[in-house]
Amino acid sequence: MKISSNRFSWLAVLAIAFSVAAGCQSSRNTCCSSCSMTAATCSMPAPAAPPTKASQAAMTPQQALVELKDGNARFVAGYPLHRDLPADVKATAAGQYPYAVVLSCIDSRQPIEIVLDQGIGDIFSARVAGNVLNDDVLGSMEFAGKVSGAKLIAVIGHSNCGAIKGAIDDAQLGNLTGLLAKIKPAIDTVPADVQPRTSKNYKFVDDVSEANVRLVMQQIRERSPVLREMIDNGQIGLVGGMYDLSTGKVHFFEK
Ligand SMILES: [Zn+2]
Repeated sequence: MKISSNRFSWLAVLAIAFSVAAGCQSSRNTCCSSCSMTAATCSMPAPAAPPTKASQAAMTPQQALVELKDGNARFVAGYPLHRDLPADVKATAAGQYPYAVVLSCIDSRQPIEIVLDQGIGDIFSARVAGNVLNDDVLGSMEFAGKVSGAKLIAVIGHSNCGAIKGAIDDAQLGNLTGLLAKIKPAIDTVPADVQPRTSKNYKFVDDVSEANVRLVMQQIRERSPVLREMIDNGQIGLVGGMYDLSTGKVHFFEK
């Protein structure tokens, strides 16, 4: 009886391990509805499918955040969902129902769909150096939320950001000067005891980057009555986060 029990335990462990390896840990992966299939049948998972009008409508802001968190966990673990991209192109040709809009930096080391393991049709993506806010990005967010039904706005900065360093160093270059000026108010919000306040101090740079994310979140509320009303009504969520270039992890702010 004891031997049988142990054997069962080992089989269960192996089945779970194989399921995780096959990307079965996500509720959005249809490879096995309850992840109770045998390893053999789970080795060829059906591809994850883009959101539909019904699935988008059914999703809450909290669930949308879980999707992003789960996607980043899959990316970090090295087990992204299996996708059939040509099929996803066809499936989304007539319409799109993304569940989130994400503002992030242009940094080549933080391709946001990849690090959050999102596919075609999953998220709107706005990228600009230093993930700063401007009227066009704000208008894009309003389109994503009010017109297209996205349930979450995510602002994601990252460690060791060149744009943040440029703002700290007061870099001057063509149109970049105006972009960096949008970041500078965040510098003063970092506590004075964080020293030295230079771009050589990684902690200071990352503190400014996080402050910049919080500033953008505040600006979204202040500058968009459309989104503020949706946020206050619980129709859309607003979350910030920081991507760590050295680990691949996104730390989402709790508040
Ligand atoms: Zn950056």
